[in-house]
Amino acid sequence: MSHEHDTSRRSFLKVSAGFVAAGATPSTASAQDTGTELNRLQGSRRILLKGGVVLTMDRQLGDFAKADVLIEDGRIREIRPDIAASDAFVVDALNRVITPGFIDTHSHSYQGILRNILSNGRVDPDYNRDIIAKITPAYTVQDAYIGMLATALGMIDMGTTGVVDVSQVNNTPEHSDALIKAMQTSGIRAVFGYSAGAPGPDMKNPQDVTRLKKTYFSSKDQLLTLALGVGPDPRQFQVARDNDVPVVAHLRNTLPQRDDGARLAILQKAGLLKAGDEFIHLLHMPPEPLKLIKDSGCHVSLSTGIEMTMGHGIPAVQNVLDVGLQPSLSSDHAVTLTSDMFSMMRMTGVVQRYGVYQREVNGDKNAPKLLTCRELLEFATINGARTMNADSKVGTLAPGKEADLLVLKADSIDIWPLNNAYGSVVGLMGPSHVEAVFIAGQVKKWRGSLVGVDMPKILANMQEARDGVLKRANFPTNLLG
Ligand SMILES: [Zn+2]
Repeated sequence: MSHEHDTSRRSFLKVSAGFVAAGATPSTASAQDTGTELNRLQGSRRILLKGGVVLTMDRQLGDFAKADVLIEDGRIREIRPDIAASDAFVVDALNRVITPGFIDTHSHSYQGILRNILSNGRVDPDYNRDIIAKITPAYTVQDAYIGMLATALGMIDMGTTGVVDVSQVNNTPEHSDALIKAMQTSGIRAVFGYSAGAPGPDMKNPQDVTRLKKTYFSSKDQLLTLALGVGPDPRQFQVARDNDVPVVAHLRNTLPQRDDGARLAILQKAGLLKAGDEFIHLLHMPPEPLKLIKDSGCHVSLSTGIEMTMGHGIPAVQNVLDVGLQPSLSSDHAVTLTSDMFSMMRMTGVVQRYGVYQREVNGDKNAPKLLTCRELLEFATINGARTMNADSKVGTLAPGKEADLLVLKADSIDIWPLNNAYGSVVGLMGPSHVEAVFIAGQVKKWRGSLVGVDMPKILANMQEARDGVLKRANFPTNLLG
């Protein structure tokens, strides 16, 4: 617990002016002052974010043009204007937008060391041939660890506080242990969607799920939960049901011989669909199976950017909205595109609007309504929390919830003046505006830098792992290709 002496309180508020006040620059605070300030913040039971634009995304509580957020013991205690908390560490949030942390509901995070390996690639044949068939089998346990850590830390840096991971690199049980350890080390909130790795005698998926569950997931009071990454196959779904974990399943529905809608009906008839299961992509899916997903209490994840860029198909944004599903958003991977959720929101908005405008041009008098920036922010926050089955803990800012939240800088030259808070976050901002990140009330990014991360060491480890895996896979990179 932090109990500040009056004089030291004044001096630290002066220090934090570099962080918040107009006219000051971060360089006014010395590294030593920042370290002292950070120590105080980390040692504080109560943290008061003061005078920010607070987008709670909680419809009952509403959003605030100016309010304070009091965090206590990792949870949100109170949100309203003018909270007095004399013993709290105060963060001046003037000209900041405070939002729930973003949630990315589908990430092959182990590929963090393969960024832009396929800058111009298609999913077929490039991704499936190079990433899945060639490079993934060459991953060592250490590569899996570094790849996962790199992605998770990169996400936190970009404002993503929660992720559903589907790393298909569980080549051995030791790979799984390394992936889980990397997530724990990063401090991100995550679902570990345990998926098959490269085929081989040491690949123990799915049966190893029982050991993993017992070893790492016996507590419900932790940032990490377990799911099973599967295809639309009754036998695989049965394993999830036997182990009482949710399913995360890709339903690409693109190959001519695939009819994932029919497969869904088979799963439902067999009683194998369960509320809380997650389905990804859902391209060109007719309304019936989408309704089945909704009526079963399952969730959906759209990877709008990757689907458009790599040729999966036209994203199902409007299709899922039409049946009343509330989609979440996902990056899929960074082999081709960024994983930042600002981009996910923007790309999804652009695709939906394109569809509406096309219908209007074609004379459709009943074209759907355009998505708003607030709705897109819901996709990236509360819908993501529902999809990772964590909406009772996070996804909105409300008393009692765990404090996963972002402090976004609005008084920068590319954002100011602040005329519409949702528009600024969804339409204009990017990772560079993520000034502070909290997960379960713990500060993970402060003054624009990740907290407690030995960056030179991690960058060196990433490069070393990248060199090793590409050499073993005999896969050339071309920096200027
Ligand atoms: Zn995927």
